Amino acid sequence: DLKLENVQKAFGDNPVIRGIDLTITKGEMVCLIGASGSGKSTLLRCMNLLEPIDDGNIFLDGTDISEPGKDPQPVRQRIGMVFQSYNLFPHMTALDNAMLAPRRILGGSRAQLRPALEEMFTRFGLHDRMNHFPDQLSGGQQQRVAIIRALAMQPEIMLFDEITSALDPELVGEVLDVLRDLRSQGMTMVLATHEMGFARELADKVCFLHQGRILEQGPPDQIFEAPNEERTKAFLSRVL
Ligand code: ATP
Ligand code: MG
Repeated sequence: DLKLENVQKAFGDNPVIRGIDLTITKGEMVCLIGASGSGKSTLLRCMNLLEPIDDGNIFLDGTDISEPGKDPQPVRQRIGMVFQSYNLFPHMTALDNAMLAPRRILGGSRAQLRPALEEMFTRFGLHDRMNHFPDQLSGGQQQRVAIIRALAMQPEIMLFDEITSALDPELVGEVLDVLRDLRSQGMTMVLATHEMGFARELADKVCFLHQGRILEQGPPDQIFEAPNEERTKAFLSRVL
């Protein structure tokens, strides 16, 4: 489990995360929704220690990972992250992009790593694209490679920040299919997303962020059909 207690984060005098309590249980898919600037990306970045938090605690399986001064690297191996911009290395094939981190950090050889990666490329419909370079791939294919690259580290939790936002509409579905697949395999996931239909279909829990706080959280049916808060209603009426 990943457990956030009273997490706070400011940039200068701008408080961006203002006391967030949230538990992500193993195997759960949690979706963060909310207006631009509400703090979704910052919250995800705090979860895998890309941003140091100012106050509060983050526990991974009961261990406080947010103590200042601790090496964030082991945590980032256990909590993978995928961004809107896929940022593949342009001079490396899809397969080499996916192999880079496990070779450096887990220390496996190409031959050892290849079978598991090949299986993932196949599973996500990219078996014939392994040896292509990023500029030979569509945005949706590149994003799927970026997901494989994160999965190659065998994380326990995956964080996804608006991973379909930069894609042409016709490519969104193939990336969402990957998330569907991961969910059915029991991956623990946290998504910041504007894909309300997807959140509604697959999330176990939806959290509505407003000005750095979780104003409301619950199962998707409740959040989308019977929100308690006026601000949630107003947000949903704008985006649905
Ligand atoms: P969006 O839907 O547009 O992606 P978001 O909910 O992800 O928005 P954040 O990116 O977390 O929102 O930003 C929340 C606030 O924090 C914004 O006011 C933003 O300007 C500010 N912020 C984010 N990152 C930084 C940074 N590195 N330095 C200063 N301010 C930042
Ligand atoms: Mg964001």
